Amino acid sequence: KESSTEEKGAPEQGPTGHSMLAPFTSGSQQTDLHPLVITRSEGVYIYDNKGKKYLDALAGLWCTALGGNEKRLVEAAYKQLNALPFYHSFWNRTTEPSLKLADELVDLFKPVKMAKVFFTNSGSEANDTQVKLVWYYNNHRGKPEKKKFIAREKAYHGSTLVTASLSGLANLQKGFDLPDAFPYVLRTDCPHYWRNHLPGESEEDFATRLADNLEKLILKEDPNTIAAFIAEPVMGAGGVMPPPATYWDKIQPILKKYDILLIADEVVCAFGRLGTMFGCEKYNIQPDLVSIAKALTSAYAPLGAVMVNQKVWDEVSAFSDKLGQFGHGFTYSGHPVSCAVALEAIKIYKEKKIDEYVASVAPTFQDGMRTLKDSPIIAEIRGTGLIMAVEFGDKDPKKPFPASWGIGSYFGAECAKLGLLVRVSGDIIMMSPTLIITTDELKDFIRMFGEAVKITE
Ligand code: PLP
Repeated sequence: KESSTEEKGAPEQGPTGHSMLAPFTSGSQQTDLHPLVITRSEGVYIYDNKGKKYLDALAGLWCTALGGNEKRLVEAAYKQLNALPFYHSFWNRTTEPSLKLADELVDLFKPVKMAKVFFTNSGSEANDTQVKLVWYYNNHRGKPEKKKFIAREKAYHGSTLVTASLSGLANLQKGFDLPDAFPYVLRTDCPHYWRNHLPGESEEDFATRLADNLEKLILKEDPNTIAAFIAEPVMGAGGVMPPPATYWDKIQPILKKYDILLIADEVVCAFGRLGTMFGCEKYNIQPDLVSIAKALTSAYAPLGAVMVNQKVWDEVSAFSDKLGQFGHGFTYSGHPVSCAVALEAIKIYKEKKIDEYVASVAPTFQDGMRTLKDSPIIAEIRGTGLIMAVEFGDKDPKKPFPASWGIGSYFGAECAKLGLLVRVSGDIIMMSPTLIITTDELKDFIRMFGEAVKITE
């Protein structure tokens, strides 16, 4: 249900056939329907091949932070393409943009001091790399039995074999022999207060219960077998779930107590999305390892990265000396064009004080969307900064909402007609506009959203 309704969220334009095997799309959709073809972008707007204009409610896939036509990023790519389109970073050879970007990222990440940055092409590769790094770290420490990862229900960490296993979403696993094919993942609670709290339970009590459940799981499995906990500061693709109050304060001491590394998956949250430069800043998270991608280049070029602290780097460094090398890397690790674009994107984020800007426009978005909360079809509105979800359903989280069948896709199609392209996942509408969106554009966004709600009611 989840995947098929998501596909239908886009406007349907008539029968066709094409040769592309499209991600997260069903076979009959690919065979029978025109895909929505986007040809141009301008600020917060995108245009399809028929010239129709949409406000892009998801900033691509939570990533085009600086919008559609930031010429400085185009020029940074052009300049680097002219100077040196490619050289790799293997065997102690590398390029200037990748060296500069690693220094810049270490400097930018304030919650704890990071020691080293490893470049990948995507968020999935970053999280895949995390698993290898964590195993490498523990193997060198003489703790080879410390292998398991704890991840949360509804997490999204990517779609490679390993990262789809870390993800807590069934549509990524069905048909691929997962989760059994990668048996190192333990699953803990999704921190969605509205959906999962007990009657009368406060947010703080809910957080305490989740932390207790985490500790029970660790003890049941044996702490000596558990390597790391991986989590998004605010859960994104699983339905936009900001943590309940005190959640991170209660989780982190438990991880420390049992010598379990904390991996912050900042692929969506980093670079201002929550109104802070990193999600970790917002919730006082002090990770050992961090994954970033997406807004790192504002999606103008593919790039991801893993940052590791000194504790992890010391082991990785010593182990790689012993083995002769750190035997991991991709042809495009530290691609100079992507790194040049990222350097310029970060320069712009700093000049614009993007974190402060997001914090300043967030109330227009958050409060404006919440004016729709009394609609009889809306169950919950949640979010922070420039990330939100509206969930359709009954106001009582325990009551099924039979009318919800197909409501998300119907709503998505109505939004598209009005010129707002939202992401539909079952009954949940997810939104993360570009970070440069103005308050007027946000008001227009909310107006179109509200009109589509009225039509759907
Ligand atoms: N981690 C999170 C939190 C994500 O939201 C995503 C993608 O949406 C990924 C990892 C995977 O990133 P990519 O699609 O670049 O592989």
